[in-house]
Amino acid sequence: MPAATAEDILDLFRRVGALLEGHFRLTSGLHSPGYLQCALVLQHPREAEACGAEIAARVKDLKPQVVLSPAMGGIVIGQEVGRALGVRAIFAERQDGQLMLRRGFSLEPGERVLVVEDVVTTGKSTRETIDVARAAGAIVVGAASIIDRSGGQQTLDVPYHALATVSLPTYQPESCPLCAAGQPVVKPGSRA
Ligand SMILES: [Zn+2]
Repeated sequence: MPAATAEDILDLFRRVGALLEGHFRLTSGLHSPGYLQCALVLQHPREAEACGAEIAARVKDLKPQVVLSPAMGGIVIGQEVGRALGVRAIFAERQDGQLMLRRGFSLEPGERVLVVEDVVTTGKSTRETIDVARAAGAIVVGAASIIDRSGGQQTLDVPYHALATVSLPTYQPESCPLCAAGQPVVKPGSRA
């Protein structure tokens, strides 16, 4: 498969309705000029597999031995990256607010771990996942996601790769410039 450019990835997201541009009222109540939902891409196994292969191509030189993802958002893409790399894929999940390995998953001391997510926004869950691996004595060789929506602002201390970067600011309704411009606001999924 030829390497997908960032624009190819964003076209895929737009095609399946996973990236909408306009003026949206998000579930949080905040307004945004864009709506991003990776699950709408990953519901299609062929597209999920292709995204996993693209990430794998970018990280294979890091020689990861296992992929670790935070639940829920990272599970599907983590599985696909693991498939493409030929390594196992495990996930961490929250118990009493603390991210941890459950279900008998474990990491060996010195094992080379790649942390994979669907989207990195602030990098907080990525850092927590890195901490889970390090607490087990593993070596985190890098992190990757399909989308970087941090605007390049994430501050991870490992090499980080994303297939595409999007900048989607959010606004309080009372200070939303799109509202101020008189543009009608819609809920994602209900096209005006
Ligand atoms: Zn608005």
